[in-house]
Amino acid sequence: MNIHEYQAKEILESFGVKTLPGKVADTADEAVSIANTLTSSKYVVKAQIHAGGRGKGGGVKLANSIAEVGQLAEEMIGMELVTPQTGPEGKLVRKVLIVEAAEIHKEYYLAILLDRETSHLTLIGSEEGGMDIEEVAAHTPEKIIKTQIHPAFGITDFQAREFAYKLITDSSYRHLIPNASELIMSLYNAFVECDCSLIEINPLTIVGENDDLDIAALDSKVNFDDNSLWRNPEIAEMRDPHEEDPSELEASGSGLSYIRLDGNIGCMVNGAGLAMATMDIIKQKGGEPANFLDVGGGASVEAVAHAFRLILADKNVKAVLVNIFGGIMKCDTIATGIVEAAKQVQLTVPLVVRLEGTNVDLGKQIIAESDLNLQLAEGLSEAAELAVNAVNTA
Ligand code: GDP
Ligand code: MN
Repeated sequence: MNIHEYQAKEILESFGVKTLPGKVADTADEAVSIANTLTSSKYVVKAQIHAGGRGKGGGVKLANSIAEVGQLAEEMIGMELVTPQTGPEGKLVRKVLIVEAAEIHKEYYLAILLDRETSHLTLIGSEEGGMDIEEVAAHTPEKIIKTQIHPAFGITDFQAREFAYKLITDSSYRHLIPNASELIMSLYNAFVECDCSLIEINPLTIVGENDDLDIAALDSKVNFDDNSLWRNPEIAEMRDPHEEDPSELEASGSGLSYIRLDGNIGCMVNGAGLAMATMDIIKQKGGEPANFLDVGGGASVEAVAHAFRLILADKNVKAVLVNIFGGIMKCDTIATGIVEAAKQVQLTVPLVVRLEGTNVDLGKQIIAESDLNLQLAEGLSEAAELAVNAVNTA
C-alpha cells in the first residue's frame, strides 16, 4: 500500500526524523491559514498524489507570499497533474501540502528497501539526490552507495555511521554525520515497526543558515507490505481509495486477488501458483496477460461471475482464458458455474477453457453441451495457444 507525502511525513516525524514544518490542506482557504501559522516568509505548495516527479510536472511550487500560497493552492486543487510517473491522463489533485520553504544547500538521496536478490533490507544513498536520481542510477551507478542490513542483527550503530560517512563527503557538512546516522537509525526503526516495503527520502537536504545547518527530509515516499496491514490498523486507515485502481479495489472487497496488467488476454485461474504458471505460458506462446486473477480454491458461481465482470471491465481484453483445477470443488460444479456466469455477463470475446481434476469428463461435457461460443482446450499448452490465436485473429 502506498500513502501520500503528508502522511509519510507524519509517520517519519513520529520516529524522530526532521522534516520541514507544514500541514496538508483540502482548500485554498485552509492553505492560507496553514501558511499563517508558519514562521518563514516563503512557502512551498506541493500537490499530494501517489506519484513522484511532481517537481517536473508543476506540482511543487514556491510561493513568495501568503497570498501566493492561496493562488497556487487554488490552481493545484482540482487539477489533473501530469508527471513523468502518472501516465498522460494525469492524476487528480485533492490536497496540497503547505511547507516552509527552506534554503537548500545540498540534496541527497536516501532509501531503505528490501533487496529481493539477497533477501536483505538495503540502505541506498547518493550524493546526487534530487529530481534526477533515475539518471544517476542509469548513467553513473558508481555514485550510488549500498549497505546490506543483516536480518537477524538489524542495523548497527556502526553501519549507520559508516553509511552517513560515505554519503556526506563535503567538508562543510561533515559535522552533520552524527545527525545523518541518527536519521538513518530512525528510518530503519520506522521501516521495521511499520512493516514498510520502501522508505525513500528524495531529497534529503542540508538546510538552514550557514552557521546553523541541519539535515532534513524534504520529500518522502513510504510503501507498506499489504500482508501486514492487519496488525497496523492506523496505517491501513491511511489508504486513499481515490488513488487505487477501482477494479483492484472491488476485487479485494470480494475476496478475489486481481492485479491489472498491460496485455490483452484476460486470465481466470484458481490458486496463485496456477495463475502465475498460466501467465508464464501465455507469454511463452507469444501473448500478453491482461491480469493476474485468483478466484480462490472454491471458484463458486458468484466468484466466477464476479471475476468475468472484472476481466471484461478492462477494455484491452480481447480473449479470456479460464484455467481451473477442480480439487476442492469438482469440475462439473465449476463447469456449471462458468456456463452460468458467462451467460450472466454476456461474454462478447472469445473464451478458452481448460479444466483438470476430479470429474473432469463430466465438466467438459457440461461445457461442450452449453450453447456458449467457447473452445475447450486439452492441457495448458493448448489452452494458451488457443487464447493467443484468438487475440491474433480478433
Ligand atoms: P517530487 O518531484 O515529486 O519528487 O517532489 P519533491 O518534493 O522532491 O520536490 C521536487 C524539488 O523541489 C526538490 O528536489 C527540491 O529541489 C524542490 N523543493 C521542494 N521543496 C523545497 C523547499 O522547501 N525549498 C526549495 N528551495 N526547494 C524545494
Ligand atoms: Mn522527491
